[in-house]
Amino acid sequence: MKLYAPSTIREIRDRFGFRFSKSLGQNFLTDKNIIDQILEGSGITGDDLVIEIGPGIGVITREAAQVAHKVIAIEIDTNLIPILNWTLGDLENVEIVNQDVLKTQLNDLIAKESFPGVVRVVGNLPYYITTPIIMKLLEDQVPAASITVMMQKEVADRLTAKPGTKDFGAISLMVEYFAEAKEIVKVPRTVFVPQPNVDSTVLRLDIRDEKPVKVEDEEFLFKVIKAGFGQRRKTLSNALSVLKGYDKATILRCLEEAGIDPVRRGETLSLEEYARLSDVLRSAI
Ligand code: SAM
Repeated sequence: MKLYAPSTIREIRDRFGFRFSKSLGQNFLTDKNIIDQILEGSGITGDDLVIEIGPGIGVITREAAQVAHKVIAIEIDTNLIPILNWTLGDLENVEIVNQDVLKTQLNDLIAKESFPGVVRVVGNLPYYITTPIIMKLLEDQVPAASITVMMQKEVADRLTAKPGTKDFGAISLMVEYFAEAKEIVKVPRTVFVPQPNVDSTVLRLDIRDEKPVKVEDEEFLFKVIKAGFGQRRKTLSNALSVLKGYDKATILRCLEEAGIDPVRRGETLSLEEYARLSDVLRSAI
């Protein structure tokens, strides 16, 4: 049975009385070529533990299980669990976890496993929570070697944007801090059922062994970055005033010490500048 064939999706719908949930971002892949490109692009080997986010009916899961040591697939929709048991029941190296990935302790889940290789995260992400998922994977420092995921094209553009461009945001800096991003393939909206009204991109994030900037306190750097982007049209000296314990005079003094013009806007600063500013601010009070 070709799981990714539209006729299979129809059969599953009829057999299980399944109804697609728009609010859970359910757009299922129907193109084997794209599935292969995600998996080849992710670099999975037979030694690796794969964490899949949002398996749907299991199209990526099934193919990943053919190459990986083990696949743990995290699916929020309880209605999909009997379907996944039916489509993947013959595979011994697949575990389905019926949970919200945003509430899953991924580090604990991974710590319980033993495998000779590395952890690789894959998935065709639900579009409504792509950014929170990526933020969680990065900020929780999930011990993955790579994250290869499909997302709405515009989100991929934001993740890989450079300072001063319209797509540049806090998430662009978080991605730059933790990973090296590479586009694997662009995906047209026509290869999904039901068809979304956006196109997609598959990105691979290779998690860095060494961060591109060194700071005294990572958590504080993230706070400064988020504050810097909090109010887009405000100058940096105003935007940073949301940081607890910092008055305007201290912020201005720190910006001067870090060599950053206080009338610049947060979205024009590079990661190096945020790192410098974060260290100066941290030691100021
Ligand atoms: N991997 C399948 C495919 O490519 O055909 C399905 C991809 S579909 C775009 C996204 C999947 O993520 C759906 O199965 C949806 O139910 C699931 N999902 C949505 N929100 C989730 C969450 N918070 N945690 C885990 N899975 C979620």
